[in-house]
Amino acid sequence: MEIAGLQKLTLLDYPGKVACTVFLAGCNFRCPYCHNAELIDHILPPEMDSAELLDFLKKRRGLLDGVCLTGGEPTLRGQELKALIEEIRALSFAVKLDTNGTRPDLLQELVREKLVDYVAMDIKNSPDRYAETAGVPAPGLEAVKQSVRFLLEGEVDYEFRTTVVRELFDDNSFLGIGPWIRGAKRYFLQPFEDRDTVPVSGLHAPSAADLERWRKIMLPFCPATEIRGR
Ligand code: SF4
Repeated sequence: MEIAGLQKLTLLDYPGKVACTVFLAGCNFRCPYCHNAELIDHILPPEMDSAELLDFLKKRRGLLDGVCLTGGEPTLRGQELKALIEEIRALSFAVKLDTNGTRPDLLQELVREKLVDYVAMDIKNSPDRYAETAGVPAPGLEAVKQSVRFLLEGEVDYEFRTTVVRELFDDNSFLGIGPWIRGAKRYFLQPFEDRDTVPVSGLHAPSAADLERWRKIMLPFCPATEIRGR
């Protein structure tokens, strides 16, 4: 399998673990604020293949605890992703999966076969603004909801997270998200950060006051709501 990129060391991407981050190209969303837009359409040549990644990991045994698989949307790789994770697990690394939740069947399969230890799932916005925020007319909301319901059951450690952009969010966003993820173990509001590679210009981070108000809206639904990255 082609590996679009590898960050050899991260202390941030995998909570509580020293990890590396593996980027897989391709995504079924077109979020206007995406930080990995060059990965969405396979614009860049792959950095390595899975055999080279596994060679790297063999040399890092004892130095890294975990591997984060991110994208793009890793679950679009289907059984190819599962095979890669099985090889990573065979080297005794913990595995974190970042996902937009649009492939609930594969997500459940990976969890039930104990192939992933931690799932970070994006909640793009309230259901009525999902398509706008995901940048596609049909974001597969029923599939996303199925993934949310599954993670709320708690079979695997997880977090939900939302990248918050001033132009795409208001109080109603969180009044919509709150009941949807009620009882979630962790929920993070991540303020948008502008970069040259973001596909749509003119987007901004929310104000600190808006972020704090939105955190307070979420607290009755998810007491473990935090603002990350500020
Ligand atoms: S789901 Fe993630 S990788 Fe895909 S477009 Fe949105 S932010 Fe980018």
